[in-house]
Amino acid sequence: MIAEADPSTAAAPPLRWSNRFASLGTSFYTELPAQALPDPHWVATSPECAQMLGLPADWDTRPDWNALAVFSGGAPWPGMRPLASVYSGHQFGVWAGQLGDGRAHWLGEVQTAAGPMEIQLKGSGRTPYSRMGDGRAVLRSSIREFLASEAMAGLGIPTTRALAVTGSALPVLREEVETAAVVTRVSPSFIRFGHFEHFAHHDLHPQLRTLADHAIDHHFPSCRDAANPYLALLEAVTLCTARLLADWQAVGFCHGVMNTDNLSILGLTIDYGPYGFLDAYDPGHVCNHSDHQGRYAYARQPGVAFWNLHALAQALLPLIGEPDEALAALEPYKSEFAQALTARMAAKLGLATQEEGDAALIDDLLRRMAADRADFTITFRRLADFDSTPGARNDPLRDLFVDREAFDAWAVRYAERLGRERSVDAERAPRMNRVNPKFVLRNHLAEVAIRRAREGDFAEVDTLRRLLARPFDAQPGFEAYASFPPEWAQQIEVSCSS
Ligand code: AMP
Ligand code: MG
Repeated sequence: MIAEADPSTAAAPPLRWSNRFASLGTSFYTELPAQALPDPHWVATSPECAQMLGLPADWDTRPDWNALAVFSGGAPWPGMRPLASVYSGHQFGVWAGQLGDGRAHWLGEVQTAAGPMEIQLKGSGRTPYSRMGDGRAVLRSSIREFLASEAMAGLGIPTTRALAVTGSALPVLREEVETAAVVTRVSPSFIRFGHFEHFAHHDLHPQLRTLADHAIDHHFPSCRDAANPYLALLEAVTLCTARLLADWQAVGFCHGVMNTDNLSILGLTIDYGPYGFLDAYDPGHVCNHSDHQGRYAYARQPGVAFWNLHALAQALLPLIGEPDEALAALEPYKSEFAQALTARMAAKLGLATQEEGDAALIDDLLRRMAADRADFTITFRRLADFDSTPGARNDPLRDLFVDREAFDAWAVRYAERLGRERSVDAERAPRMNRVNPKFVLRNHLAEVAIRRAREGDFAEVDTLRRLLARPFDAQPGFEAYASFPPEWAQQIEVSCSS
């Protein structure tokens, strides 16, 4: 079902809309228009994301296309078919019942060179799934979502993308009065674990099967050939989730709200809320100020993802049949995660070969970093300049540690390890700089951009977007963005409020 926009009548880019999720039927969603932001303005756009969608460079400025109206919830382009989907989920380990797109509208699915991409507005007004919410998103959280999406893409970590943020003077009440914004998100699919949980919970097995078939046919086609395609689907989601978690851990990313409604079945990072990148290395770091129990602490994320996969397995059980088989499909999570994390950490240390003691070498570095609260990103970035002949060249790295003797002891082991694989410092360094980012979206960087944006100056948002699109490049002149967080960064409190 591809609706071709007719260029003679439609003032819209020549996109091809397929809208396959919409073809599932009304058990899965409610069709309804978004609610336009009054008097909208652009806050940010991502030329990279636009290019991925096949939009021309002037997509946001051509008057006849009126993209500003489209992406602030006003008149959709021909071929778009706005809808809000229903899902449920476990929040903080407890069954939360029906949730759903309470403030998001799927505009449709468009054919691109990178495959079909769904486009969604977030903050675009109330839907039948809004519960007590106002259907809006604030400028602060919309900028945070936009920047994180594009930063994760720059890091090479699977994520939903962000095309744009539009803003408005419309007041929105959170802890204080803020203003409304709409983020446009882009993803091959916005299906979450919670979509499956919804239909399983209500014993709607035909719909559960329809949804699983949709996921298999469009996103995991190789599962169709398995003896039990639904079991294969569970295993495929298990594996991509394991790899995603390894990516997060290796870059020091904390999601903050790993509820089952916030986990993508494609293993993409989705729903950026109170997320954070580690500054000082602290395995117990909790980035979400509302997470009083520390359920979603950095070091707990891999275990929580496994817990969430159990909820997905439970939901798919009516299709799979055998509980033992479902549990067995989850089992590869542990080895896949461990293997992926070990590979990423070894690369972070610049190791080209594998040795028995590598895990201990990595663990001991992390232990030293935790004990001395060494900055996660800066430590690994400086490690690239490690001189395997001990000397002053290693001082910038050594200075990150309080217990210098302990660091020196580790450095001797590291130098010996590098020596055993005949690692050449000058060759290893560029390799390490391609896996250890110089720039990550630290909270204080986003905070400065948000403060300026509230005053109507969006330049800093764009500066961050550009910088974070190439986080491994040296980008001279932007050293301040790669530096330690200022004192005041510790006072930033990021909560679920968005
Ligand atoms: P989140 O914690 O952001 O993942 O949201 C959990 C659920 O609450 C989802 O179903 C959201 O759509 C919904 N929700 C969050 N904020 C709002 C809001 N301001 N208005 C309506 N629904 C919301
Ligand atoms: Mg959510």
